[in-house]
This record gives sequence, C-alpha cells and structure tokens, in this order.
Amino acid sequence: MEYRIGLGHDTHRLVEGRPLILGGVSIPHLRGLVGHSDADALLHALTDALLGAAGLGDIGEAFPDDDRRWQGADSRIFLDATLQRLQALRWKVVNIDAIIFAQEPKLGAWKAVIRRNLARLLALPEDNINVKAKTGEGVGHIGRGEALAAQVVVLLQRPPLSVPDQDLAPTPSSEPPDTA
Ligand SMILES: [Zn+2]
Repeated sequence: MEYRIGLGHDTHRLVEGRPLILGGVSIPHLRGLVGHSDADALLHALTDALLGAAGLGDIGEAFPDDDRRWQGADSRIFLDATLQRLQALRWKVVNIDAIIFAQEPKLGAWKAVIRRNLARLLALPEDNINVKAKTGEGVGHIGRGEALAAQVVVLLQRPPLSVPDQDLAPTPSSEPPDTA
C-alpha cells in the first residue's frame, strides 16, 4: 500500500452579519466568517490537506478566489470536486485529524456534530475523523476574536498498481531493437 500525508491550514476574519459555517455545519453565532465563498475555514483546510497529500497543489489554484463561480459558494463543492480527483487517482482517505482555533463561540458541544458531518461528507466511519477545538488563550488575532483558523492533517492510501512480473522481465525470444 502507498501512503501520503497532507497538511492544511486556513484563517478567516470573524465579523458581524455573516453566517458561521464550520465543516459544513451552520453554527448559530452573532458573528461569522468572511471570504469569497462561504468561508468555511475547516472545509478549506481539509480540502487543502487532501490536495497536498495527493501532490495536487492547493485550494487557491484549484478554486481561484477571483473566479465569480465561487462567490458565496458552498465549500462542500470544493471538497466534493477534490474527492473526485483523488478517486480518479485511486486515493482513499484513511483518517483525518482537525483542530479549530476559535476564542468564540465555544465549540465543545459542536465538535461531535462537525465530526459526524465530516464523516458523512467523506463517507468514512466517525472513528476515522477527529475534531478538536482550541481557544486563542486571549492572545493574538484568534484570542481577540478577530479571526478563526483551522488546521487539518489527512492520510491517504492506495494499492500499488499490479504489474504482472512477465511484463517486466525481458522475453528470451525478443529481437534487439533495430538501430539501422
Ligand atoms: Zn478559506
């Protein structure tokens, strides 16, 4: 089996009058995340980790933020399109570990909901998904509640391409290449 790991990180500003969507889950809060799309920092970090593990660049290359198609877009679109690219390359997601950095709102009660939703979006058992939440300890842009960030690591696996041995071994009857 071939294995690859990937790392994703994303930060968005928290402002009033915007929805707060994390891991595809709408969380009731006075403030939400600003971005070109729905600004789901967790799905963006996850998508970036998946692209990175497969050596496919980053989310900005795949879904440019100056492309009007992605204005206000549901970030599940980015995840689904990336999962399709991985599937075409025979990659399967083994597991995901995620951290959400937010001073507010308190996400303790939401971790299980987000985990369940990620499991559904990735068609994986919940055991293969982990979601953690940390505050900014009152320090920096996270701690002051100006921004929210997410970090994700993923592991991918795929079976080796099965090449029959006889196709690799030189056949005794083969003629040397004609170089004339
Ligand atoms: Zn983002």
